[in-house]
Amino acid sequence: MELTQWARPNILQLKPYSSARDEYSGEAMVFLDANENPWNQPWNRYPDPLQRELKKKVAQLKETDPSLIFLGNGSDEPIDLLIRIFCEPGQHNLVQIEPTYGMYAVAAGVNHIAVTGVPLSGDYQLDARRLLAAVNPATRIIFLCSPNNPTGNALDSAEMVKVILGFPGPVVVDEAYVDFSRKGSLLPRLSEFPNLIVLQTFSKAWGMAGLRLGMAFAAPEIITLMNRIKYPYNLSSLTQRTALELLDTEARKEEWVHTLLTEREGLAAALASVPCVEKVWPSDANFLLVRVSDARKIYGLLTDRGIIVRDRSRILLCDESLRITVGTPGENEILIRALHDISRNEPF
Ligand SMILES: *Cc1c(COP(=O)(O)O)cnc(C)c1O
Repeated sequence: MELTQWARPNILQLKPYSSARDEYSGEAMVFLDANENPWNQPWNRYPDPLQRELKKKVAQLKETDPSLIFLGNGSDEPIDLLIRIFCEPGQHNLVQIEPTYGMYAVAAGVNHIAVTGVPLSGDYQLDARRLLAAVNPATRIIFLCSPNNPTGNALDSAEMVKVILGFPGPVVVDEAYVDFSRKGSLLPRLSEFPNLIVLQTFSKAWGMAGLRLGMAFAAPEIITLMNRIKYPYNLSSLTQRTALELLDTEARKEEWVHTLLTEREGLAAALASVPCVEKVWPSDANFLLVRVSDARKIYGLLTDRGIIVRDRSRILLCDESLRITVGTPGENEILIRALHDISRNEPF
């Protein structure tokens, strides 16, 4: 069965909005087709709806083809579009690991799609057999996240492949933190799996969270469906121009990643010697999940000192856990000092 056959019939039949820039996308002397203001260049012009120049550059960077790339307003956009392409509101469901990134369930909720969460093992690993057992005839997408948020670890790639092979419908693997992992990406194997959709983002390693630029990689038929239902001009000229410039600075990104990985190891070791810290989980991302003696209290005491971390203690399998982003060497030192200080002053 073709993967497009998993799409909702109304999406397959949809005649998309055709913009002026869709109808004519080349160079010209005079543009009088889009009701734009002729002054205030370059912002008077509508942006390229398919971001051709930017996709060419992303394709080079990721060693893939532009026809396999969708660019969105953050990863949030492809997450929402994929749910809307494949899941019929009020009828279908998606399956995800638990705990994981909260956006899949929020996007599902907005679209009236039920979510079945399958708990990871005690050491936050994926059991493909257990996940696939949660699939039923109304399941239309599986969401995996590797390295996973908030646990920080990469999922075992052999188990992920078992999921991709064991479910004929779309399997999304969110690799937002892949630049920080030594365990690799599934992107080079995209052509092996027609039902695989890989998400990546410029928000983390590339330091562009404010720009809102996310990527989806999938078979061209899936990319075509995503382009069909997206807002015509989903990425502004400002985003496209700025990203084109910033993608030339890959060396800087590599340096940031290198520093953050060194800092991650240093921070993990320093945290392990803090009295109120009970466990520091191994991380393949730019953050650490840390179990402490009293997460709520320590979160509050850190906030009082102007240090903000994420309290994840109400999340399944994350009892008494804080999620701590790796910062600059100076920021990490401030955090460690504060935690030692808190441990000294409070009877834990
Ligand atoms: C941060 C993060 C993203 C990135 O989202 P954007 O919308 O691209 O900023 C995606 N997935 C996960 C799991 C994340 O933690």
